[in-house]
Amino acid sequence: MNNTDIIALHKQFVMNTYVPSIPLVRGKGARVWDADGGEYLDFLGGIAVVTVGHCHPHVTKAIRQQAAKLVHVSNLYYNENQPRLAQALAERSGLGAGTKVFFGNSGAEANEGLLKLARLWGHDQGRYEIITMRNSFHGRTLATLTATGQVKVQKGFEPLPTGFVLADFNDLESIRAAITDKTVAVLTEAVQGEGGILPATPEFMQGLRQLCDEKKLLMMCDEVQCGMGRTGAWFGFQPYGVQPDAFSLAKGIGNGYPMGAVVAGPKLADLFQPGHHASTFGGTPLACAAALATIEAMENEKCLENAVQMGELFMGLLQKLAKKYKFIQTIRGKGLMIGVICDRPCKDLENLMRAKGLLGLTTNNLIMRFLPPLNVTAAQVRKAARIFGQACAEWQQQLAAAPQS
Ligand SMILES: *Cc1c(COP(=O)(O)O)cnc(C)c1O
Repeated sequence: MNNTDIIALHKQFVMNTYVPSIPLVRGKGARVWDADGGEYLDFLGGIAVVTVGHCHPHVTKAIRQQAAKLVHVSNLYYNENQPRLAQALAERSGLGAGTKVFFGNSGAEANEGLLKLARLWGHDQGRYEIITMRNSFHGRTLATLTATGQVKVQKGFEPLPTGFVLADFNDLESIRAAITDKTVAVLTEAVQGEGGILPATPEFMQGLRQLCDEKKLLMMCDEVQCGMGRTGAWFGFQPYGVQPDAFSLAKGIGNGYPMGAVVAGPKLADLFQPGHHASTFGGTPLACAAALATIEAMENEKCLENAVQMGELFMGLLQKLAKKYKFIQTIRGKGLMIGVICDRPCKDLENLMRAKGLLGLTTNNLIMRFLPPLNVTAAQVRKAARIFGQACAEWQQQLAAAPQS
């Protein structure tokens, strides 16, 4: 099938929930190809999913071997890969002895796990309200879209579940004001992803930990986008020197093999008991093999260090473009989670980039977001910056030819 055939078949049979651009058929490292042979430098990485690059040989081999051995047995049986992965995550989390993990299949499901942990923890005291941040994103299930601080994901699905209260990100006073005698937890991202690649301030993360301790609330982090090395640390909260009581993972954990996880420190690790929570596909031998191999590849290739170094290189190159093009307001982010903040909606810029062979994604209308594989090379970063610069030049011309604002 060529590009046109794939698009036609998709439009006929697949629900219209996304606006896909091009059909992709093959990937290798930071590159992907469409059905007509067009090549692209993938600086979106399946939205922060392809941690060590497309079809990484070590991950592919692990998936292949495990697929030939045992794929799924359900959680009614032990499988050795699951505790090995749980141990790897617990040890890297820094949440301390007694940390345990629950496995699911997506970010929304992982966050549902966090929300249920919080509800159960506060249940006997009649506490159930969870404070979440404006502009956050936590998923598309009913509970997680309610936790999400963006009206656009909620519209049309009311009445929404109760027990969620919004406060302002990076504003401790706003959190304090939202606390009632029913509050049980505060949920935040360390770096807001969909909300616009916006890092929390150290004062916010450290103050939030203190406030949660003072008010006997759980501090919970959604690490679905900023976790798994994306910001140059294993988890986005770590550079702040704080430990949440529990956090969620998904996107980057299995290099594209679907998986979600709840990592809970000692306070919550033993709260769920048989009957409280479950997931048929959670932590299959195959998914865990993919995730273990992803972690091994990350360590073999020093991906955390590389994320910091390549992030600095890319940010520096983007800063130069920001000086040249007035529509770029600022560049922000952490590690290889980078946003170019424009002064107008930048979908046209995304399309221009793609036509020139670079994939990125706009978020929150005004922000061009880059989430390349964590083992991206300096040559690839320079090439991406070059293509982005060319796209900016062309967009500048278009804007000059047809002034809109
Ligand atoms: C993508 C994302 C989710 C939702 O993950 P899904 O796997 O799409 O359910 C939740 N939280 C954050 C921070 C995300 O970026």
